[in-house]
Amino acid sequence: MKDLRHELTDARLAELLECDDDKFAPYAAAARDTLIAHVGDKCYLRALIEIGNVCAKDCLYCGIRRSNRHAVRYMLDDDAIVSAVRASLAAGYRSIVLQGGEQCSDSFTLRIERLLDKISRLTPDGGPAVTLSLGEQSLSTYMRWREAGARRYLLRIESSSRHLYSRIHPHDPLHSFDRRLEALMSLREADYQVGTGVMIGLPGQTAEHLAADIRFMQQMDIDMCGMGPYLEHRHTPLYGLRHTLVPPAERLRLSLRMVALLRLVMPDINIAATTALQAIDSHAREEALRMGANVIMPNMTPQQAKARYALYENKPLCETPAGTMPLCGRICDTGLVAAPEDDGTSRHYYERKSHEPTATR
Ligand code: SAH
Repeated sequence: MKDLRHELTDARLAELLECDDDKFAPYAAAARDTLIAHVGDKCYLRALIEIGNVCAKDCLYCGIRRSNRHAVRYMLDDDAIVSAVRASLAAGYRSIVLQGGEQCSDSFTLRIERLLDKISRLTPDGGPAVTLSLGEQSLSTYMRWREAGARRYLLRIESSSRHLYSRIHPHDPLHSFDRRLEALMSLREADYQVGTGVMIGLPGQTAEHLAADIRFMQQMDIDMCGMGPYLEHRHTPLYGLRHTLVPPAERLRLSLRMVALLRLVMPDINIAATTALQAIDSHAREEALRMGANVIMPNMTPQQAKARYALYENKPLCETPAGTMPLCGRICDTGLVAAPEDDGTSRHYYERKSHEPTATR
């Protein structure tokens, strides 16, 4: 199989994001072949538990932003989280994601640390593999959570363009681009499998911005990626720019192409088929799996909380948590093999660890 990495300059990536479908088709097929050749045909599943929507941040696009007075706030207690993890284990998942609004305090750090300890005791073999997605924290907090058992962390850069970043966030130290970059570096230093990603179809975003996002992820040498379309939320400031957006179908098309192109540029990372794709088209996640994605995150948040964790409107709420079977069937239809029992460590992480001097391993 031809390695397309050298052909894919920034200009070429931008062009491919915008070309006709039939011209893109061979790249979509190559992305799928690249996945199979470098990672294999398994699709990993991670049960997503949205632990709370209390957030210190005020991001201009996000429905759970601090200033949104319409958001009904919740924070699951440890018992509720542990029972959602138990339900995930019972359903057959061996890998979970705990995601929530950003909170930074000693008590929050300690609470998550203790929670991770409880989760690790749920099975004789150290519990399910845990991914965290709890925003920007200090290096020492990241280290404590890593030591308490978390293996992976998702922190999207949202946009790698400093300019665009500043247009979708308030201008204060809490929302600084540099601080976000620093947090990504800290995660790496704390020895996580590091995931990042961007929103696609943001107001003012061009194909060149998106090509630069792919390059950013390559330069950061990330292990995992979760990215998806930007979706409006009426109780956010960015809603005022909705008339400037490309239509949802176009955001979906761009998102799928981003998945394919990222796979070609980073053959051995894990790439998620995200829920936001599903919000535009109920089959879009499967489409992403056909174009190079290899992770799906079924939502195992208790139903009432799930509706309150509204980052954007039209969030899909009705996925059957009854078991892994229906989802596995849909994955098989894409030609991948559903692997809920596999903790799905990023191949890229193994690779880069094998090149590090042993002293720092
Ligand atoms: N507090 C965590 C989790 C944030 S929510 C953190 O800071 O990482 C997870 C992701 O949802 C965000 O990183 C963002 O990329 C995405 N998101 C938020 N609002 C969105 C919207 N309106 N449309 C699409 N994605 C959105």
